[in-house]
Amino acid sequence: MVKRKCSVCGRNAIIHRKYEGRALCGQCFCRSIERKFKKTVGKYRMIDSGDRIAVAVSGGKDSASALYLMNMILKPRKDIELFAISVDEGIKGSRDLALKKARELCRKLGIKQHVFSFRKELGKSLDQKVKKDKLSRGDICGLCGICRRWILNKKARELGATKLCMGMNLNDEAESIMMNYVRGDVLRASRLGPVTEYSRSKAGGKFFIPRIKPLRWIPENETELYAKLKKLPFRPKECKYRGGLRIDVEKVLDMLEKKHVGVAFTVISTFDTMLPGIRKSIKYSEPKIHRCKKCGEPSSHAVCKVCLLWKNQKD
Ligand SMILES: [Zn+2]
Ligand SMILES: [Zn+2]
Repeated sequence: MVKRKCSVCGRNAIIHRKYEGRALCGQCFCRSIERKFKKTVGKYRMIDSGDRIAVAVSGGKDSASALYLMNMILKPRKDIELFAISVDEGIKGSRDLALKKARELCRKLGIKQHVFSFRKELGKSLDQKVKKDKLSRGDICGLCGICRRWILNKKARELGATKLCMGMNLNDEAESIMMNYVRGDVLRASRLGPVTEYSRSKAGGKFFIPRIKPLRWIPENETELYAKLKKLPFRPKECKYRGGLRIDVEKVLDMLEKKHVGVAFTVISTFDTMLPGIRKSIKYSEPKIHRCKKCGEPSSHAVCKVCLLWKNQKD
């Protein structure tokens, strides 16, 4: 096999982007990722002067790349503050090891990191909860996500963050969109997108910190390659509890991608085209945001999902 050459500079290529029909060497690849990241941040106006940006850092490749890139573009900006938030779910042999990497990464980049645990915030680690309630794999992953988002939003707000930067890559975002189609959850779909507009709306504002997803156009294998090339500490393994609908949707998208290159891009761009229409159509049916009777956090019901599902408190 003839070794591919970089389509930009002619050096040996390390990646072949089928969706673009070009190959890139390490240097040109990194440059391309950085350009794409900046372009996404600019296009969706993800940052404003005076922002305090909290990056959710998990110890995985995506958030490592997101933190590194954010730090890179914000370095010359003295008007914007950057820090990291990590959640310790309390999963032995998986999340604890990833958190070590997250700590290493923040130290390496010289970024302040705040860590919050399920144990302290919710009274139990996820492992303890799973054991006590005998949760099934399908339920665990969903519940963990709900609780993690609850902690991230609450803590980001308490720390005075004006934006919460998430590490979702192209594949994650395409999966989330497909999951809402499969579940028929139009309301939840309306809250997706590069910036969660919901948090800027009258109903959600103040309580919800706007979430930004600058890696949304970068495929998963590329966030990983970037993190590796930049020698960022991260844990490559996935969480042992990962499960539920997401895995099935992931399989379908992988299968489609093999035969139809660029499917994930199309899923997202089609969705973006429809999004204003979706938002308009649900505008009047959108539930009011209350503050949860139990914990005071924002919720579309009288009692939020964390209090209902984790703390098992109905009223
Ligand atoms: Zn090159
Ligand atoms: Zn609550």
